[in-house]
Amino acid sequence: MVASESLAGLPPGSRDPIKARRAASDPERPGEGCRAVPGVWMPTIDREKCEGKEDCVAVCPYSVFELGTLTDPEYHELGFWGRLKARNHERRTARTPRAEACRACGLCVVSCPEEAITLQLSK
Ligand code: SF4
Ligand code: SF4
Repeated sequence: MVASESLAGLPPGSRDPIKARRAASDPERPGEGCRAVPGVWMPTIDREKCEGKEDCVAVCPYSVFELGTLTDPEYHELGFWGRLKARNHERRTARTPRAEACRACGLCVVSCPEEAITLQLSK
C-alpha cells in the first residue's frame, strides 16, 4: 500500500497529472512508489487484453509507453477474443520503448482499464 504522503512526491512528467494523482491514491498500486532504481523493474503488457486506450501513456512520469499497432505476427498469435478485441480497436497496442526508465511507480498498472499491465523484475 502506498502512503498518502507519497502523493506529494509524485514526480512531474505525466501527460495527465489529474489522472496520475488519481492513480497514485489507489490502494492497489504496486511497485516501489517511484523509488526503484531504473532498469530493475519493467512493465509487461498482455496483448490479449490491451485495447490501446492510452491511460498508461497518459500517467507514466517517465514516458515509458507509446501507442503502436500490432504487427501481423503479433495479431495472429492472439486467441479468438484477443483478435476480436484487436479488430475492434484498430490493432492499437501499447509499446514500451523506454522500459529501462521505469521507476516502478505502479501508476500504469492501476490506470489500465483492461488490467493489461504487470510490473516485473527485469532480472
Ligand atoms: S496497456 Fe492498458 S492503459 Fe495501456 S494502452 Fe493498453 S489498455 Fe490502455
Ligand atoms: S510503473 Fe514504470 S512504466 Fe508504469 S507508470 Fe510507473 S514508471 Fe511508468
